[in-house]
Amino acid sequence: MSAEIETLLREAQEGDAEAQYKLGIAYCTANGVKEDFTEAAKWFQKAVDQNFLPAKRELGIMHLTGEGVEIDAATAYSMISEASKALDPNAMYHLALMYEKGIGVKPDLYEAVKLLAYAAEMDYPGAEEDAERIDNIIHMERERKLKSRPLLNLDISDVDVEAACCKKMLDSMLNEKTVVMDTFDGPQLIGEDADGNDIVLNKCPYCGKSIRRISRDKY
Ligand SMILES: [Zn+2]
Repeated sequence: MSAEIETLLREAQEGDAEAQYKLGIAYCTANGVKEDFTEAAKWFQKAVDQNFLPAKRELGIMHLTGEGVEIDAATAYSMISEASKALDPNAMYHLALMYEKGIGVKPDLYEAVKLLAYAAEMDYPGAEEDAERIDNIIHMERERKLKSRPLLNLDISDVDVEAACCKKMLDSMLNEKTVVMDTFDGPQLIGEDADGNDIVLNKCPYCGKSIRRISRDKY
């Protein structure tokens, strides 16, 4: 055992949450000690008991993989989301992938992209690529959904266009010239005027149909 680890161990035993967390990391990464996930989980748990958020994130991730602890998606979600709310980009990244795959939480690709965008903003490695990847899935899903629905209502949910009222609006939605954006007034349908500037739409500029606000799971 290295001198550094001995110091960490002493501080951890004295109840220092950060030392407990660092010791857990050392056991996970075999840094100065032999890799031991059970031992890592033990030290993370002690730090978690003192509400040390990075340890919550790490123990949460272990509950996803089952290393050192039992697989428990609900506990993983609660721990990782707590760290994510404290703007921990690593936690946001992992939480996003849980939202993508529906692990411990109802799948929600929009929530996943939002979290990845925050993580990317903080330069978390891979976050931007994953945001793009999931954005593409959303894009394809939107296209499939809009094409499969009858041209009847102009429907928007809190995050996206859900149905088009007429052929021209459908084309505008498919080209992403008409989109739902979160504004200071809440989610709004945004289109383009003749000069290509963004404008808030209250009805369809082509057929005059009013916007209907629906929940995402209406269809
Ligand atoms: Zn229309």
